[in-house]
Amino acid sequence: MFESLQDRLGSILNGLTGRGALSDKDVSAALREVRRALLEADVALEVVRSFTDRVREKAVGAEILKSIKPGQMVVKLVHDELVATLGTEQVAIDLNAPSPVTIMMVGLQGSGKTTTSGKIAKRLTERQRKKVLMASLDTRRPAAQEQLRVLGEQTGVATLPVIAGQGPVEIATRAEQAARLGGYDVLILDTAGRTHIDEPLMAEMAEIKSRANPHEILLVADSLTGQDAVNLARSFDERVGITGIVLTRVDGDGRGGAALSMRAVTGKPIKLIGVGEKMDALEEFHPSRIADRILG
Ligand code: GDP
Repeated sequence: MFESLQDRLGSILNGLTGRGALSDKDVSAALREVRRALLEADVALEVVRSFTDRVREKAVGAEILKSIKPGQMVVKLVHDELVATLGTEQVAIDLNAPSPVTIMMVGLQGSGKTTTSGKIAKRLTERQRKKVLMASLDTRRPAAQEQLRVLGEQTGVATLPVIAGQGPVEIATRAEQAARLGGYDVLILDTAGRTHIDEPLMAEMAEIKSRANPHEILLVADSLTGQDAVNLARSFDERVGITGIVLTRVDGDGRGGAALSMRAVTGKPIKLIGVGEKMDALEEFHPSRIADRILG
């Protein structure tokens, strides 16, 4: 395991107890460790830079208190700034629109889109008593539509019957009609991914968006995504326009730096986190917990 930031900063700063205020030099030394900790947690470099600049502004000249060790004081500053960046308020999925409210799930292949579609459908059905329809628009991976159907069966959520040969936009149109005619409250569109971001993927997402007019567009991203997280979030946000992020595999070993990177570059809230493969392994996002994890 890495040495905690608290310990590292303690050995640099705690000798300063009893002195007046943190100098530029003290802060620079501390920020080198903060920077290292963030990079180890897989926060993207450009995000690390702007983040440490903000902490610097708050730390230089900060009075050294008797009641708290200088190392702890800087850890607290860093922690508070992490929480502020990650978003202090919980933002739920917004269903405040005429029915059927359409939620479009986007992201790379394997990020957990289909699993998360099932989890969200189950949660809305059970906790908010919503009538939910799910449709898979993934015509690239032959098993994808079947995977969603099976998840629907497991969770007791309706799925749009598959018609072979239809393309994603046709399916979206049919799903919207079925949801409207069937009196569904919510329609979840599970889109196709790719192994990496490319123009055909973005063009397909933009086309589906313009046809389906979704109220929520949730970017599903693996919390283990490293430096690529910035590029991923920025591309989807600029090209398609996301309304929120769902971070998956938060049950894994990752330190959660991707959360900070994606939130920082898009300003879009992390709405939910996936914490396992099971259909109820979906939780609200607590910035403070991810901040602790990033700090190690
Ligand atoms: P998609 O290609 O984006 O639709 O991804 P899938 O939904 O098929 O998920 C890919 C794999 O990741 C599956 O084996 C899922 O069970 C798994 N998975 C999805 N979300 C989570 C999560 O939060 N935690 C863990 N441990 N596994 C997950």
